[in-house]
Amino acid sequence: TCDIGMARSAPNVLVTGTPGTGKTSLSEQVAAATGLKHLNIGDLVKSQQLHTGWDDEFECLVIDEDKVCDALEDLMAEGGCLVDYHGCDFFPERWFDLVVVLQADNTVLWERLEKRGYSERKVQENVQCEIMHVIVEEARDSYGEGVVHVLQSSTAEEMEENVERLTQWARSWRPSS
Ligand code: ADP
Ligand code: MN
Repeated sequence: TCDIGMARSAPNVLVTGTPGTGKTSLSEQVAAATGLKHLNIGDLVKSQQLHTGWDDEFECLVIDEDKVCDALEDLMAEGGCLVDYHGCDFFPERWFDLVVVLQADNTVLWERLEKRGYSERKVQENVQCEIMHVIVEEARDSYGEGVVHVLQSSTAEEMEENVERLTQWARSWRPSS
């Protein structure tokens, strides 16, 4: 008698973490290896105008969380999505079979963000966010214990291991009955 939605035939994965930890690089490689659909939420917010304007203090677009969730709902119901975003508390918990939080060494992260052309203040803010484990805590507060996995992404070797782990996980995933 339970017909509330259909089970997904492929898993949905969320890759989150402080900007610069390697979400997009990892997601692109895993998507290429598995056929999961890479959804870069930052890009989507820009291209579909899913924001409420520019925040001068934080130097970023203010994401419209409701609009983003509406835009994703059908895709997520289908399954097979790899969502890439530096926040995670506004997505419905039911969407994800796996939540990966990437972490990077503070010095490494600092250099990556400087290279990206971020202002000194924005670099500092993001590195502080990493030091305080903001996204890890947000993920643990928002998703079940068995769903959240924290992976290190400071070196190329770690990136390779993460690609391999996620690819294996996605390939062996089966719908739960
Ligand atoms: P995010 O999407 O989380 O902001 P990116 O995937 O854009 O991060 O990565 C930021 C930069 O750091 C890119 O130049 C990328 O090549 C590099 N990078 C990311 N992860 C690693 C890693 N594990 N080892 C070496 N370089 C990395
Ligand atoms: Mn990115």
